[in-house]
Amino acid sequence: MSEITPAKDGPAVTQATLVKKAAPKSDYKPADVSPQRRVQRSFAVRLWSVRHSRLLEWFYARFADTFLLLHPLWKGIGYGRVEAPVKFVEKRVKGFMFDCRMCGQCILSSTGMSCPMNCPKQLRNGPCGGVRANGNCEVEPDMPCVWVKAWEGSKNMVNGDKILAVQKPVDQSLRETSAWLRVTAQAAAAREAAATPKTGASA
Ligand code: SF4
Repeated sequence: MSEITPAKDGPAVTQATLVKKAAPKSDYKPADVSPQRRVQRSFAVRLWSVRHSRLLEWFYARFADTFLLLHPLWKGIGYGRVEAPVKFVEKRVKGFMFDCRMCGQCILSSTGMSCPMNCPKQLRNGPCGGVRANGNCEVEPDMPCVWVKAWEGSKNMVNGDKILAVQKPVDQSLRETSAWLRVTAQAAAAREAAATPKTGASA
């Protein structure tokens, strides 16, 4: 349900504004602990990523190819051993760029570089019916709806129509695992399967 309170004169007041106004007044204002400021700052980078979705799509394709080239190295060391350092980097890079929640099943290239796990309802197949008239989320009124942004980002991408693919529900058991390594290992397995001659074919 939308929590916008209509004002008699001027713009509507959001729930976030009401909560801020109702907060007890104090002389102590710790530096940089406002969740609102943190959120707004991360929106800025998140929205930049959506605006540059085509560039990031191009970059990610190169990056994925490079990771796949390194498959023999990952395999030699052991995927289990490289998981911790790769996950450390992935979490920080994607956390900064996309506010990644490390679901482990990345679909950024199908969602205009807008991470669907930032949707408070964690919808993976489009927006709910509660998007506000200004394109913001009904649960977090100050946050642009991730699916509105996903649509905008997809329109800039070469393979933007991937947004039309129906996504599987999130597998929560894959949380906090590396999507980079998973995609690489799966691509390597598919490549090896394609290169292996099929036996038992009928004459
Ligand atoms: S879809 Fe998953 S892995 Fe990709 S950015 Fe979002 S939370 Fe991270």
